[in-house]
Amino acid sequence: MKKRIAILGSTGSIGTQALKIVKEFPDKFELNLISANSNDKLLLKQAVEFQPNDVVINSEEGYKNIKKNIRGNPSIHHGAGSLCQLIENNNYDVVLIAIVGFAALLPTISAIKSNKKIALANKETLVVGGEIISSLLKKYKSTIIPVDSEHSAIFQCLQGEDINRVENIILTASGGPFRGFDLERLGSVSKKEALNHPNWSMGNKITIDSATLMNKGFELIETKWLFDVPFNKIKVLVHPESIIHSLVEFIDHSVIAQLGQPSMYIPIFYALNHPVRNKSYAPKLNLTEIGSLNFEEPNKNVFKHLNFAYEAIKAGGSYGCVLNAANEVAVDSFLREKINFLEMASIIEKSLEKITFVKNPTLEDLLEIDLKTRVFARSII
Ligand code: NAD
Ligand code: MG
Repeated sequence: MKKRIAILGSTGSIGTQALKIVKEFPDKFELNLISANSNDKLLLKQAVEFQPNDVVINSEEGYKNIKKNIRGNPSIHHGAGSLCQLIENNNYDVVLIAIVGFAALLPTISAIKSNKKIALANKETLVVGGEIISSLLKKYKSTIIPVDSEHSAIFQCLQGEDINRVENIILTASGGPFRGFDLERLGSVSKKEALNHPNWSMGNKITIDSATLMNKGFELIETKWLFDVPFNKIKVLVHPESIIHSLVEFIDHSVIAQLGQPSMYIPIFYALNHPVRNKSYAPKLNLTEIGSLNFEEPNKNVFKHLNFAYEAIKAGGSYGCVLNAANEVAVDSFLREKINFLEMASIIEKSLEKITFVKNPTLEDLLEIDLKTRVFARSII
């Protein structure tokens, strides 16, 4: 039996890598839905090639273009509401959530409520609404298989283990392009330098998040919600080669790690095939060629974004929502070259000060807080 797959965010870095896997294994996967924000050219090309049942695009103009040029049978839909409805009303074996940012929150909730198995690449959803998401997962008995490489590693290390016997979860971080920089040097880095990640090729937003270490901060929060561990058991270890994708230390002090080339192929492939391991075309690891692996502590005095994340885990409530929205605005403004690298942290700091903290936000509260934060953050840029 082929697995019916929905890929949300099919035109992005994760989305296109997932489609490559679907194409490599036509006997294993059947593509039923693809979606994107505004890249109608690429979405149309994917739709014509893969002939999924449904194609969803956010932009109105993109919708018209695809409608006009589509060949074959896919139905074309417009907007986030249609996407949520399609997820709720169709049977998919796996929903891969590869949308970037806050926009993934509502589709993820639709997938949970309709009892889907979710391959989750998006991390912002858990940063914003981890508490709501984890209680919905319990209520609807849905499952998340992590796609983020660190969390895929932790998930694999925990197979057959008791989470209560874990002493520490150690997230590895490459350190990004500015590892070892001091604040003065960081003040003058360019967009081009920030987008030049030493090990990973990813979408622009996560690449900037990797340069500020916000990405690692978000992954701390993601770890808390995915594996239900307190923040004092989650550590970050800088490992510039990105070969060890993360480690789990147990109470007997045995440490289990997952290793592989820095490629998202394996975590995507693992999540799509779960619970079975299948033969893949992933690049193989040759440790003799690599020779040595290095480790160091992250510098929290320089990379302040990590501290925001620890605060978010401690505070809970609406803290993560404000942090995420302010960060999305800050990264976008940095990418448009309206602010410099260090100003991203000040925009987040000011937003966290300004927006009133809510201890137990509902989903409606989160949608409102997200909007309010964006309006405020934009107003100070
Ligand atoms: P990307 O920017 O390359 O692609 C994003 C996708 O989301 C595109 O298909 C885009 O059309 C869609 N999208 C954007 N805004 C949208 C909106 N408002 N509504 C609906 N769709 C929208 O991003 P990416 O690098 O593929 O990352 C996707 C997610 O996966 C992010 O949350 C990221 O943190 C996470 N992730 C990515 C990688 C990686 O290697 N790229 C690794 C780990 C985790
Ligand atoms: Mg990661």
